[in-house]
Amino acid sequence: MSGDLATCIFCERVRSDPVLVRNELAVAFGDAYPVNPGHILVVPRRHVLDYFALTETEQAAVWQLVNQVRHVIDVEFRPDGYNIGVNVGAAAGQTVGHVHVHVIPRFKDDVVDPRGGVRWVVPSRACYWAS
Ligand code: AMP
Ligand code: ZN
Repeated sequence: MSGDLATCIFCERVRSDPVLVRNELAVAFGDAYPVNPGHILVVPRRHVLDYFALTETEQAAVWQLVNQVRHVIDVEFRPDGYNIGVNVGAAAGQTVGHVHVHVIPRFKDDVVDPRGGVRWVVPSRACYWAS
């Protein structure tokens, strides 16, 4: 997983880049490789690897921005749905070592069959409705 404190790309974004929305403990910016148009990441200002290591106050600040970001995306991209997710740990797919919540707008027909959504993190068990 990339990103100790000295080289963390998200700390760099927190320090120097323009962000979409911010509060005292968290910021939000566009994902550099968006899954869909409007894909946003919400990150705590503090460099922490593991979502569950955030304080409850930081978690609340992150989720407050998720709600704010949702309104910005609604206006700009008019999605039909959302996937919201946090990869916690390399085993769960986390590749950047600074907590981030993915806010991914979804559009009707952006995939052939969207059923299951986040269940597709384990593709072989995603499709429960056919069993
Ligand atoms: P994860 O695999 O959950 O750790 O997600 C890392 C996310 O960071 C991916 O969605 C990447 O597209 C995104 N990403 C990687 N580098 C950057 C960057 N420099 N600025 C913004 N997003 C980035
Ligand atoms: Zn960081």
